Amino acid sequence: MSRSDDRNARITRLVRPAVQAVQAYHVPPAQGMVKLDAMENPYPWPGELRDDWLAVLADVTANRYPDPTAAALKAQLRRDGGVPDAAGLLLGNGSDELIQLLALALGGEGRVVMAPGPGFAMYRLIAAFTGLEYQEVPLSGDDFALDQGAMLAAIARHQPAVIYLAYPNNPTGNAFDAAAMEAVIEAAPGVVVIDEAYEPFCGRTWMSALERYDHLLVMRTVSKMGLAGLRLGYLAGHPDWLVQLEKCRLPYNINVLTQASAAFALEHGDRLRAQTEALRVERERLFEALCTRPGLRVWPSEANFITFRAQPGQAGGIHASLRESGVLIKNLDGSHPLLSDCLRVTVGRAEENARFLTALDAVIG
Ligand SMILES: *Cc1c(COP(=O)(O)O)cnc(C)c1O
Repeated sequence: MSRSDDRNARITRLVRPAVQAVQAYHVPPAQGMVKLDAMENPYPWPGELRDDWLAVLADVTANRYPDPTAAALKAQLRRDGGVPDAAGLLLGNGSDELIQLLALALGGEGRVVMAPGPGFAMYRLIAAFTGLEYQEVPLSGDDFALDQGAMLAAIARHQPAVIYLAYPNNPTGNAFDAAAMEAVIEAAPGVVVIDEAYEPFCGRTWMSALERYDHLLVMRTVSKMGLAGLRLGYLAGHPDWLVQLEKCRLPYNINVLTQASAAFALEHGDRLRAQTEALRVERERLFEALCTRPGLRVWPSEANFITFRAQPGQAGGIHASLRESGVLIKNLDGSHPLLSDCLRVTVGRAEENARFLTALDAVIG
């Protein structure tokens, strides 16, 4: 047997079929581009805070393991996030890791993960490679509403161990109807995770609902508020749930640089909030501008991105042409039946949004 045949035979025999079947999460190259594809905050650290931040980092001891409880950071997150006193907190290396932790703790033969769709890609991807069954319930109508009847029927049928509700939802940008969310929470036989990655752009939160529901977990991340490079997410919920999930967390998952940097950043949370506020203003301007373009269907957004539908068959061409002009957005066409001809643009700085619109006008005329 040739060396490559032998290698391939071993891979096919040993890598779990569920893993082999998965497509790896693709991150396109973005060097030198106006990057409007990944919901990042476009603003760097305010210049006058840089030196103070570096001073904090100078005192970090990299020869020792991080504080496994991340006590100082957790206290800061609690204050910043309005976490109820009775709730516990679990930290993840991004909320992606928390989704994986939930799969490790709650997974197993016949276990089902459920989410409305189109939804956040990682729910499905992590379910696939951890061997969980993923049940998606289509959003309804023209405005991507949570389909309460379909959700309740799917819950009764599949008895999901975990239900994810992103509030606001990615990639549709809307925050679901609160009464429909409550009906899902009340009907759920397992845990419900409300993913509030875009809370900084929406302002509404389910944090206080933790006081009413012991099977509710609220997930947050610092990524979309301006700290995507740090990789930090958290899960708030009943301590009895979190004690179990903690067992699956690798002890030092939040490194010393992230712990120190995130605590420092949140001490200056007013600066991040000012950036978020500016992006909300830019979002409305970008939305109005897109609405004036002929032939586009634009959905209102409570997040830091806007999803729109191009004329049939045009999304791929628009995406490629923008890329050639140095503007990277996300092509959603083909990712989901409800997203045909759709594209998603992250709200950037005013000049970035202007470059996007200019490049867009050049294609759609
Ligand atoms: C971006 C995003 C996340 C991922 O957050 P990280 O903390 O960066 O891993 C989670 N959920 C939704 C809905 C997102 O859009």
